[in-house]
Amino acid sequence: MARDELLRATPDDDDLELEGPPATAAGGEGSLDPIASLRPRTLDEFVGQTELKRRMAVILEAARRRKQAADHFLFAGPPGLGKTSLSVIVAAEMDVALHVTSGPALERPGDLAAILTKLGEGDVLFIDEIHRLSRSVEEVLYPAMEDFQLDIVLGKGPAARSIRLDLPRFCLVGATTRTGLITGPLRDRFGLVARLDYYDPDDLRAIVERAAQILGAEIDAGGAWEIARRSRGTPRIANRLLRRVRDVAEVEGDGRIDEHVARAGLELFGIDALGLDKVDRSILSALCERFGGGPVGLSTLAIAVSEPTETVEDVYEPYLIQQGLLMRTPRGRVATPAAWHHLGLVAPPSAHTPADPSLFD
Ligand code: ADP
Repeated sequence: MARDELLRATPDDDDLELEGPPATAAGGEGSLDPIASLRPRTLDEFVGQTELKRRMAVILEAARRRKQAADHFLFAGPPGLGKTSLSVIVAAEMDVALHVTSGPALERPGDLAAILTKLGEGDVLFIDEIHRLSRSVEEVLYPAMEDFQLDIVLGKGPAARSIRLDLPRFCLVGATTRTGLITGPLRDRFGLVARLDYYDPDDLRAIVERAAQILGAEIDAGGAWEIARRSRGTPRIANRLLRRVRDVAEVEGDGRIDEHVARAGLELFGIDALGLDKVDRSILSALCERFGGGPVGLSTLAIAVSEPTETVEDVYEPYLIQQGLLMRTPRGRVATPAAWHHLGLVAPPSAHTPADPSLFD
């Protein structure tokens, strides 16, 4: 794996197939095998996000007592924070099958109808990237979510007629990296809308320790901490870095991971002290060195680092903003003094601090 890919929160071998035959959580097969997978399968195994877990536990318990499908859930947040895992957990906790698809895979209303008619009573339907559903598919989803009914148009032209089918009561779990792109009517039909935030290093350390146990890797508190604090607040990255550090520990040492081994391993893969990857750093250095610290427009910045605008906005910027290295302002993206400092550069006197009001006039 190239170093640049290491820090990307793109799906890895631990993740669900998003196309192809529906996965069933109840069966515990394939990539959902609880032994082989690092993916948590119960709310208890899901580390952090305490408030959200409490709310979900109540909703799921109430649904179980009523012997009904759980209400629909919408999870938003950057990739790798656990949205897909939560859909697996909902299905496992309710002991029903999980059907997985994504917004771009549902091109026509018929694609969605085909999946909806296959659902069993109470099943979970997970739609990843739900903000990318077309308007016509979304319109089929509304009555399905609300009244568990499917309107199908048979035939074309004057002979066309519409029939209404009853669907089993199902639970829709939607995931999105962009809440802003979810239409109001769709958002309103979810019983719980939750935003997942980056994890703090303590939670990530617990995730690393849990993953190490599943992988059979020996790690001490110092080693787990070192990996946790350089994981960009993202569980998927924490798990991936653990695997790479384990490789280093096995090849260059006796297999045990302590702080020293973790640091050496992370350095080998070029991960800096803040856990930033090459693209993060090139965003900051383009901003500081080429554009004098900004403000610069998002699309110009994306071209400068040869990344799609959406990727810069959804994947990279949120963490840089959270770390206080970059700011979004009405006039464009701006580097903070901390960004200059992180790159080993001297911030010009004009560099803006996060509270600088002059940017917002
Ligand atoms: P998303 O759908 O938001 O991109 P995933 O649910 O696929 O993220 O999570 C990526 C991986 O990170 C999972 O396979 C799982 O191993 C791990 N993970 C995510 N959230 C947690 C958590 N809260 N506790 C433990 N592991 C987690």
